[in-house]
Amino acid sequence: MKSALIIGITGQDGAYLAKLLADKGYTVAGTSRDAPMANTAGLAALGVADRVAIHSASLTDFRGLWQVIEKVDPDEVYNLAGQSSVGLSFEQPLETFESVAVATINILELLRLLGKPIRLYNACSSECFGNSPEPASEDTPFKPRSPYAVAKAASYWSVANYREAYGLYACSGILTNHESPLRPARFVTRKIVSTACRIAAGSGERLSLGNTGVVRDWGWAGEYVDAMWRMLQQDAPEDFLIATGKSYSLQDFTAQVFAELGLDHTEHVDVNSGLYRPTDILVSRADPSKARERLGWQATMAMPEVARAMVKAEREQTSPKENLA
Ligand code: NDP
Repeated sequence: MKSALIIGITGQDGAYLAKLLADKGYTVAGTSRDAPMANTAGLAALGVADRVAIHSASLTDFRGLWQVIEKVDPDEVYNLAGQSSVGLSFEQPLETFESVAVATINILELLRLLGKPIRLYNACSSECFGNSPEPASEDTPFKPRSPYAVAKAASYWSVANYREAYGLYACSGILTNHESPLRPARFVTRKIVSTACRIAAGSGERLSLGNTGVVRDWGWAGEYVDAMWRMLQQDAPEDFLIATGKSYSLQDFTAQVFAELGLDHTEHVDVNSGLYRPTDILVSRADPSKARERLGWQATMAMPEVARAMVKAEREQTSPKENLA
């Protein structure tokens, strides 16, 4: 039986990955900055909260993380923790860099010094590419346009460096946006779905959005975590771009959500330039061919299916196991 440690198990991806691994028969442990206070709502919604052990660990505390790894003795470590909001990274650039880039180096140093055959997955992001009107691939140079993307790029190159310099089995998944009902409300997709559902129920409020012209590739978190696992089952470690290969504008996403509720989004949405970011990615397109060919992984849900599933889960707000899985 294999053992996995998910650093950042309380997040959206942490919950989905914990379920995937527990269902595969792994012994699953995870970290939260403060385990007794950890928000386990996502894990509970997926029915996996009582199948995982959660340990406290600060991402930049070498000794604390070392103790957790010694206790869990994992075959695989998934680094999914850190400040994950692009918008918030403009307000908290140092916190973002420390919890993403410095934390990754901390984990890499620890694995290097331990010298055990532990495999590491690192959560990188397609935000690193910056504007990519032509589909980005694993070979596309990074041009980050946010403190978040700068930090993710540093974590990516740290993983690549430790892999080459010390022979660690360490790889980064460069993932496009992936969503689910477990997305916190600070993320625009969840904000749109929640607000639209309230409007459909008669709240009378209006939905305020920033730049709805931005184009993104939105996938389903439950499918993306399977790609993470597959990356750690290869003979040799490599980085992979994980995407649906289909991009849509935020306006398309909004229209889809309101249409699912029988509403016309143009009657309910205000564009607020105060919500624009200092720098943003206008168009993000990605080519997941390598993942399809080498990992046998392919997304079955793109934006329309993701929007539909999020609306369904939000409306029903019951039996989350059925709605989220
Ligand atoms: P979440 O924000 O849902 O979860 C991340 C977890 O990290 C949180 O549950 C929290 O755990 C911990 N965390 C949050 N802020 C900090 C901080 N400032 N310092 C240290 N720890 C913190 O992220 P996702 O599950 O959505 O994403 C997983 C990883 O994948 C992240 O690294 C994200 O950047 C990356 N990614 C996500 C994409 C997406 O679309 N979801 C796209 C590409 C990459 P706790 O409070 O318990 O400590």
